[in-house]
Amino acid sequence: MTAGEVWRNWSGTVRCAPARTVRPRDVDEIVAAVKRAQRDGQRLRPRGAGHSVTPVAATGDTAVDLAGWTGVCAVHRDSAQVVVRAGTPLYQLNAELDRFGLALTNLGDIDTQTLAGALATGTHGTGLRYGGMPTQVRELEIVLADGTVTRCSATEDPELFAAARTSLGALGVITEVTLQCEPAFALEAREYAEPVEQVLDRLDEYIATNDHFEFYWFPHGRNAMVKRDNRLPANATPRPMHPVRHWLEFDVLENAALGAVCRTARLAPALTAPLNRLCSALVSRRHYSDRSYRVLTTRRAVRFLECEYAFPLAALREVFDELRAAVRNLPYGVMIPAEVRVAAEDDVWLSGAYGRTTAYLSVQQYAGLAHREYFELFESIAASAGGRPHWGKFHTLSVDAQTARYPRLGDFRAVRAKVDPTGLFDSPYLSHVIGPVVP
Ligand SMILES: Cc1cc2nc3c(=O)[nH]c(=O)nc-3n(C[C@H](O)[C@H](O)[C@H](O)COP(=O)(O)OP(=O)(O)OC[C@H]3O[C@@H](n4cnc5c(N)ncnc54)[C@H](O)[C@@H]3O)c2cc1C
Repeated sequence: MTAGEVWRNWSGTVRCAPARTVRPRDVDEIVAAVKRAQRDGQRLRPRGAGHSVTPVAATGDTAVDLAGWTGVCAVHRDSAQVVVRAGTPLYQLNAELDRFGLALTNLGDIDTQTLAGALATGTHGTGLRYGGMPTQVRELEIVLADGTVTRCSATEDPELFAAARTSLGALGVITEVTLQCEPAFALEAREYAEPVEQVLDRLDEYIATNDHFEFYWFPHGRNAMVKRDNRLPANATPRPMHPVRHWLEFDVLENAALGAVCRTARLAPALTAPLNRLCSALVSRRHYSDRSYRVLTTRRAVRFLECEYAFPLAALREVFDELRAAVRNLPYGVMIPAEVRVAAEDDVWLSGAYGRTTAYLSVQQYAGLAHREYFELFESIAASAGGRPHWGKFHTLSVDAQTARYPRLGDFRAVRAKVDPTGLFDSPYLSHVIGPVVP
């Protein structure tokens, strides 16, 4: 346990100095931290790898850092289910699963988040037939505010389960997660530049006919970068990218070179739009296949700010067209491309895809460049399409607006009031976005 440490999140947008930071090594130590915070009248925030842009993991009281509580603790081979400690980073989880011949069905863009952190904000990847990460959860173990260790699943305390799969850390400290995996599989990746008009014309076909489809839109360029990842048959031999080309593409171009271009834009903001246009013209063509998690996730060293909303899939085209038109009137350029993804409908109460087949649209800007008007524009477009903000990314909505967007937020708050009546896991930020605890 340490006092007075300063903690910063990945994007540098949040900084806090918890009165106490606890790094438990087992469930008993997590329970002890919870009971001690209760006794001392402190609030408590579990935290992951700090990859949320918002203060969702911040606290001035007790922080519980689960970096020492990692690893797969049980494997059920017949059901392809695994029990995983909550603080496990996704890169470690993917590697351990691979050793057992298993894989997660879908993943987001990166693998540096912790498992519990990714679940808590509804982290998702892309693919019309696949849900976000919380849909792969089958059971959770949680330490509640009174120090009780409880379990929930679709059959055991189903309300707590529906709430806790994406909880913003508001219900307790998740200690173990049972995940439904599947036999390890390989994906064939096709990534290339295509005129954005053409991508939009083929959008329905692309979404329907690829396992994982997404595209990046360069706001000032002619081309979009299309990514289509499809499962290889089990007996096919993957053809990974040559390591040197891999290094050139993903380390040099997507990180070092992009970083240099972004820093140039920060020094000379007037160059932002032309540089974004240049990036759109220089998109590489890649065709390779590899283990699923190596295709789905990449390294992101360039720090950016992000605002992402989930919409009904049917609204995607209209929202995208409005955004394109609006960006032309911005007083500055946008450096980082926007990202478009899709997901299957799910039943996780605070998921962006709850109850509807979903398109995600995420706007991004290099940290250090102006972004406020861009994000505000996007948020106003999102509002008219019933968009639900990502819990780990920038947005300005408070509880009243969230209640209109997330139809089960009221149910979530009722569960929360039951399991945490004194608001041990509350924080000023949570009170703002999901409301204070009302017992
Ligand atoms: C470069 C980058 C790429 C990203 N790509 C994607 C993407 O492709 N798709 C997507 O959807 N999102 C994406 N995100 C967002 C990211 O997945 C989420 O913000 C995620 O929550 C970060 O996980 P973390 O481990 O860093 O958690 P933190 O940000 O540290 O915490 C997030 C939340 O988890 C809670 N929490 C942590 N541990 C526990 C626990 N044990 N029990 C209960 N609650 C807990 C915290 O209290 C907090 O509310 C990206 C973010 C970045 C910076």
